[in-house]
Amino acid sequence: MNTVYFDNNATTRVLPEVLEAMLPWFSEHFANASSSHFLGQRAKETLISARSAVASFLNASPSEIIFTSGATESNHTAILGTLAANPTRRRIVTSTVEHSSTLRLLENLASKGFEIIKVPVNTSGELNMTELALAVTDETVLVTLMHANNETGVLFSIADAVVIAHAKGAAFHTDAAQTAGKINLDVRHLGCDLLSFSGHKLHAPKGVGVLYVRKGFTLEPQIYGHQERNRRGGTENQAGIIGLSVACQQALEHITHHQDQIATLRDRLQNGILGQVPLAKLNGEEARVPNTCNICFPGVSGEELLYKLDQAGIVASQGSACTAGGTDPSHVLLAMGLNRNDAFSSIRFSLSCETTEAEVDMAVETVSTIIKVIMAAVPVAA
Ligand code: PMP
Repeated sequence: MNTVYFDNNATTRVLPEVLEAMLPWFSEHFANASSSHFLGQRAKETLISARSAVASFLNASPSEIIFTSGATESNHTAILGTLAANPTRRRIVTSTVEHSSTLRLLENLASKGFEIIKVPVNTSGELNMTELALAVTDETVLVTLMHANNETGVLFSIADAVVIAHAKGAAFHTDAAQTAGKINLDVRHLGCDLLSFSGHKLHAPKGVGVLYVRKGFTLEPQIYGHQERNRRGGTENQAGIIGLSVACQQALEHITHHQDQIATLRDRLQNGILGQVPLAKLNGEEARVPNTCNICFPGVSGEELLYKLDQAGIVASQGSACTAGGTDPSHVLLAMGLNRNDAFSSIRFSLSCETTEAEVDMAVETVSTIIKVIMAAVPVAA
């Protein structure tokens, strides 16, 4: 049975051209880029080109790129590194719907005496910009907001939020793990000081990511060592970085076309399901990344639906992979005003450039058949 994969916000398949570019760096060219012999120097030169390619992807300069192990590390370094460099301010502003890699760290910082303000979202998942403006004060050291939500795909107006933060002298970090490769990322346009993303969300391997640090911005390193110009120690993930650079080049080259193609298929999936399953409703409205839809099937157990889809060879998910298996409903959907039952009845479908129309049509048919079976088994109230 062929698997139909609708879990691209959790991770994506490594592209064949990415894998091909990586392979020699495991076997033939395995040298350490810090070694002074010619093999090391060749590795170092390739890292220089990879850094340029990743910088172009963000419209950044190569010196503004720090390679990390992924968005979790980048988020941690951005937040902790900013706090360490600005010890006089103690307030951090974020949103109620951030990824667990940010929220869990901020909970820990709250226990150490930092003041954490979580700005709410509305029922469409959009950030309340008025509340944001009220939350950012002269005490604020950092505003950290995700660019797009991993569960709903809803985009935040980062460029506007940056203006609010900078007006009070606060630094601005955005977690772009769910926008990298999906929409154009331009750090000059966004105006942020710091931006994080992970390779594996855009068809590069797991275990490699990026922290963009705006030139002139002061960040205290969190992992000491001479690599990455003393900003992140540890031998470079040579093959991973090469893979990431190729994935970034591919994304940059094809993004306009892929964006339209993926949005068309996502809309076909979403409209197909909403058309065939009258009780279904969409979580998160208009301004979204093109690949994501999160649909609530009131009265249906999301877990049961996912299990039955799984058996039919269709892989989707219930919210974030990073909190999957937990017994709590999605904090993102609750923050948008859904009740616990509706949050448990919601499923995320996330597409990629590899998704086909046939897969979408099969998913629409399968979802509607499964829902009919589940609803038929629900006892009718007397
Ligand atoms: N931020 C967001 C918005 C994410 O979706 C993810 C991955 N689910 C991360 C951060 C963490 O990425 P990683 O697990 O690759 O470190």
